[in-house]
Amino acid sequence: MAKVYKVVDPLQPGTSTQGLETDWSKCVLCQEDTSEVLHCPAESTRATQGAGYKTIAELLVGFDRIGCLPTSINLSRLDDGNGIEETLQRHNAKWHDSCRLLYNRTKLQRAEKRKKPPEDAADDC
Ligand SMILES: [Zn+2]
Repeated sequence: MAKVYKVVDPLQPGTSTQGLETDWSKCVLCQEDTSEVLHCPAESTRATQGAGYKTIAELLVGFDRIGCLPTSINLSRLDDGNGIEETLQRHNAKWHDSCRLLYNRTKLQRAEKRKKPPEDAADDC
């Protein structure tokens, strides 16, 4: 699979995604309109309700910490001040299962291992 992730440079002016709003009716991970069915943990009536948000929030933060989040995901958009989990929950965030699969613990651990020194955060994701 092609690695097309770009590292966001917070010092780079002009190209900031500021002002971009999250469209909560779309997949929060890719924000794209596709024919794929959206999965919404908030619509689950099981006792595990909300658990999906906690997990994805932890994983997104983990990927962000090592600079491996794709630019399509802007964590500041997914956190309106009360934390990502809470924000996702409040907006009944949805996602494609295929997008969700990109963020799992195994991948995170592997990526963390590849990233040894933080200064080395080039484009190795
Ligand atoms: Zn998606």
